[in-house]
Amino acid sequence: MMHDFHYEEGELYCEQVRVSDIAERVGTPFYLYSYQTFTEHLLKLQKAFRAAKPLICFSMKANSNLAVLRALVGKGAGLDIVSGGELFRARKAGCAPSKIVYAGVGKTDAEIEAAIRTGILLFNVESIQELDRIGRLARKLNRKVKVSLRVNPNVDPDTHEHIATGGAESKFGLDFDTVRLIFMRQEKYPNLAISGIHVHIGSQIVKGTPFVKAFRKVLIFLTHLEQEGYRIQYLNLGGGLGIIYSDERPQTAEQFAKQVLPLFQKKKYKLILEPGRFIAGNSGVFVSRVIYIKPTKVKNFAIIDGGMNDLIRPALYDSFHDVWPLRQTRSGEKQTYDVVGPICESGDFLAKNRKIQKLQSGDLLAFASAGAYGFSMASNYNARPRPAEVMVRGGRFAIVRRREIYSDLVRGERIPSWVRYK
Ligand SMILES: *Cc1c(COP(=O)(O)O)cnc(C)c1O
Repeated sequence: MMHDFHYEEGELYCEQVRVSDIAERVGTPFYLYSYQTFTEHLLKLQKAFRAAKPLICFSMKANSNLAVLRALVGKGAGLDIVSGGELFRARKAGCAPSKIVYAGVGKTDAEIEAAIRTGILLFNVESIQELDRIGRLARKLNRKVKVSLRVNPNVDPDTHEHIATGGAESKFGLDFDTVRLIFMRQEKYPNLAISGIHVHIGSQIVKGTPFVKAFRKVLIFLTHLEQEGYRIQYLNLGGGLGIIYSDERPQTAEQFAKQVLPLFQKKKYKLILEPGRFIAGNSGVFVSRVIYIKPTKVKNFAIIDGGMNDLIRPALYDSFHDVWPLRQTRSGEKQTYDVVGPICESGDFLAKNRKIQKLQSGDLLAFASAGAYGFSMASNYNARPRPAEVMVRGGRFAIVRRREIYSDLVRGERIPSWVRYK
């Protein structure tokens, strides 16, 4: 079972709840998450890797809703954070500091200090200046801080260029020579323990090959380091596992583990995994209502009340989200549509050239696999309040983030006295 969304007598259900009932209660648009799917995906990875007992840190930039985080943390997950804001959320969700790892190329002094004070497990360091900075702040706070060095293995992850991070041209990570140099000069950093290596080559990677290529390179490098007397404790293999959006056939957790685990069998590293999309992607849908049908001479547009500000992936990456009508029509008559939002941008589409059942104004649609990089990338563009988030567990549902209201849009804004009306 890939997820817990299914049809019963032509009606879309999330677990045991009819999605149209939620839409009636909550209004549209909204994100809908299945507790079961979220936790099941985590469990699949835990099971596949049980021999190694890795620390699985959910990459919370994929979905940082507190209820989602709590569900995963409750099942033993740690969290992979990329900002001070995510650290704040991670703590609010009740994640133990000893299960938090922190990546990202632009950590500020304030963010680093907050993470040191919190006592997170590891910083994943992406540059020499950052390493210096963490060392200096650790000294100032009189702490010994554990860091991993993020290595850029220079492999092609064979994915969309905006989500590839493991090539030499990317801003992420350090090349092998630099990493080695840092190990040789570690006495420069009395307040740091250089404890691990981190590698994350990109996202939505559907085959094992790029991972294996990258991990082999890292292993060879680690062997050389060990020969020179440098040892590490943690090996963070990053995230990036691809999921099914349309016709992809991604490796399963079991297949991934079978390819990866043998590489590290004889090593004693504590493995860390950072899946985001694999856990969250198929655990959520985005639900929206058709406002108008607009036929033109060349196309049929279905104009809906959700837009690129709510779900930007199609506009940003040209990505595919399957369209599931909440009620299937009996006739089965089909038509081809561009499903577009109300935003004043031509890039504002959620599905293009899609043959789906004949739609009418008022129909409800779910956009599949929107649980990762959905709400977490939403904005207020066009002064649109961000949508509600709802979670289902079994036969229950709850609003886990209320829909924004207009006053949320102007919160924090003020008009200075020297800006006057004539
Ligand atoms: C985004 C990110 C991840 C998660 O990527 P997914 O493709 O969602 O699994 C993991 N690690 C780091 C460092 C990231 O930036």
